[in-house]
Amino acid sequence: RIVYLNGDFLPFAEARVPIMDRGFLFADGIYEVSAVLDGRLVDNEAHLARLDRSLGEIDIANPHTIPEWIGLQTELVARNGLTEGLVYMQVTRGVYERDFAYPPAGTAPTVMMFTQAKTVAANPLAETGARIITVPDLRWKRRDIKSVALLAQVLAKQQAAAAGVAEAWMVEDDAVTEGSSSTAFIVTKGGALVTRPLSTALLPGITRKAVLRLAEEAGLALEERLFSVSEALEAAEAFYTSASAFVMPVVAIDGHVIGEGHPGAHTRRLRELYLDMARAGV
Ligand code: PMP
Repeated sequence: RIVYLNGDFLPFAEARVPIMDRGFLFADGIYEVSAVLDGRLVDNEAHLARLDRSLGEIDIANPHTIPEWIGLQTELVARNGLTEGLVYMQVTRGVYERDFAYPPAGTAPTVMMFTQAKTVAANPLAETGARIITVPDLRWKRRDIKSVALLAQVLAKQQAAAAGVAEAWMVEDDAVTEGSSSTAFIVTKGGALVTRPLSTALLPGITRKAVLRLAEEAGLALEERLFSVSEALEAAEAFYTSASAFVMPVVAIDGHVIGEGHPGAHTRRLRELYLDMARAGV
């Protein structure tokens, strides 16, 4: 596998980061993930725009223009012969003697990219639907920034893994914030699509935005509002979205069956619409 590090394309084993990298010391960095389907990046410009915004929110100058990022991603995808999977982009505040405050201006950020081959379209879990659990949301208060500080998500995902399920939805003040690596949606018995409105409490999901647009075009009623776990348990359907899961049906939450216990009609439709969009090379 070939990765990108600070200007070079290198074999995985040769790519090394110094121990004083602030990503390692403080999780002082930002990341972004785009899917690759049929060899093409999916909704990539929106991911790169969010990368730029996340970097700006923590005062890291974006090391590349959008066309430069696209050039690097395209080259990395080609060098790895990747037709389906993910491209990760990671930027930290760079390497400097350990001190919390920012290093001197001009300290070079660390820029790293890697690919993961993964079946994102014909994912068998999307056929059966995923079971999930709920966990308390233990994160900080700027979840709109796609920070590499992911410890709360690591703990949540490990709880899900230990429970033998695919994802954990995080809950704060009796409302679902989002999944540990996804955006949470429910479909009410009345057929309305419900997801939490954007704020600093959750990541502005790129897939969320695309799905809301597709749902609107399909004439579904949309409600951007808070919802509780108990409302989710009573929902007709539930699903989560992300660059890696696309639209993933949820068939059980905390052991309670959702709807008929198989992927719901609205969810399946939205997954198909999203796949059509992705394959059309948006
Ligand atoms: N919320 C969190 C906390 C995430 O980590 C992710 C995955 N990046 C998402 C939502 C979904 O975002 P996107 O659709 O942009 O992948």
